[in-house]
Amino acid sequence: MKKIENECVNCGLPCLGNVCPYRKVPHYYCDRCHEEETLYYYHGEELCEYCLLKEFDIIEGSER
Ligand SMILES: [Zn+2]
Repeated sequence: MKKIENECVNCGLPCLGNVCPYRKVPHYYCDRCHEEETLYYYHGEELCEYCLLKEFDIIEGSER
């Protein structure tokens, strides 16, 4: 999921409000493990590589 977070750094300058680049920073979190990762859209969910791979069965004997 995409989440907009306020990362105000208390820079000490007069606040720029919505123009400040720290005010609305997009973050992307996996729908299942909630880690911030590269996400893939899969069957209506936004999943990281790890959670996505858990959706697939490993072919027995092919593991390295
Ligand atoms: Zn995940």
